[in-house]
Amino acid sequence: MKITRIAAYQVDLPLHEGSYKWSGGKSVEVFDSTVVRIETDEGLTGYGEVCPLGPFYLPAYAAGARTGIAEIAGALIGEDPTQLGRINQCMDRVLKGHPYVKSPLDIACWDLLGQVAGQPVCHLLGGRYADDFVLYRAISQQAPEAMAANVQGYRDEGYRRFQLKVGGDPNEDIDRIRAVANLMEPGDKLIADANTGWLMHEAARVVRGVRDIDVYIEQPCLEYDECLSIRRRTDHPFVLDENVDGIGMLMRGHADQAMDVVNIKISKFGGLTKAKQARDLCVSLGIAMTIEDSWGGDIVTAAIAHLAHSTPTEHLFTATDFNSYVTVSIAAGAPQRSNGRLAASQQPGLGIEPHLEVLGDPVVDIH
Ligand code: MG
Repeated sequence: MKITRIAAYQVDLPLHEGSYKWSGGKSVEVFDSTVVRIETDEGLTGYGEVCPLGPFYLPAYAAGARTGIAEIAGALIGEDPTQLGRINQCMDRVLKGHPYVKSPLDIACWDLLGQVAGQPVCHLLGGRYADDFVLYRAISQQAPEAMAANVQGYRDEGYRRFQLKVGGDPNEDIDRIRAVANLMEPGDKLIADANTGWLMHEAARVVRGVRDIDVYIEQPCLEYDECLSIRRRTDHPFVLDENVDGIGMLMRGHADQAMDVVNIKISKFGGLTKAKQARDLCVSLGIAMTIEDSWGGDIVTAAIAHLAHSTPTEHLFTATDFNSYVTVSIAAGAPQRSNGRLAASQQPGLGIEPHLEVLGDPVVDIH
């Protein structure tokens, strides 16, 4: 099988809540997503998606994804999309770095591999564990009472894991964590995610200020060494996210005992192929994972579902269903949250069928 054409589409994804706010005053109202379509000489078509969390979060931005796809696509024409190692080597040979550019291309090739094999992607990624898996809900940064009200509402919808967007004023963050902790019931899990937003003195005050609370602390500071310093001053379970972008950081973090849980965002690693490598390493090392992406719509949610559902249940800390946050559906067949849980499609490939009228005309078209 050979790739004959690669197209990319731009899609706006507004939010049900109107906006999403996190540390340092960062905020997004409409997410700018990019869908990739790969056509082959055998008539099969694969899809992928990448959606950075705005241009100011990770070193990734939506227009850059589309520019990068146009840069790489020519080298992939004529390649066999089912040979994922070769596909990734080809992408790395023609463009150094820029993993988020490669992620939707890699996901689209997995979609094709699944269709060729007649298997859902999660089977090819290792197998389907249990009937479904647990989701968390990200709680946009607001005043403590408003965040508590949101947690109550999402708890009523079935979520049992809540990731509070903190990383603001330390005193107010302590109030945020305390306000929500009061709502937690046995079996619930609470994560305070600072998204790199605290300086070390602020993080030190927050972890001390919530010492009596059962809460996970996620990525308190910008740099790895700063996070490690806080990790060594607290007995809260500890999650690293933004700093973990590849095998090297996982190995370093493991050697330093720097975290109990890591957050694996598919596009931060460069696609399902490399995220699977990281996932499998974490399973071997006994590190639990949040499996997700920076943001996305139905196709990113499908990709997350296949990687999360193929992760041993005891190692899957939680995962995300971005398609329930946004108001626009870009594909039929995407997994839909039920009672705070999600399941990967049973159909071959990703199991999604894009709404072509929503995608519109391609903004990149290489053949
Ligand atoms: Mg995080």
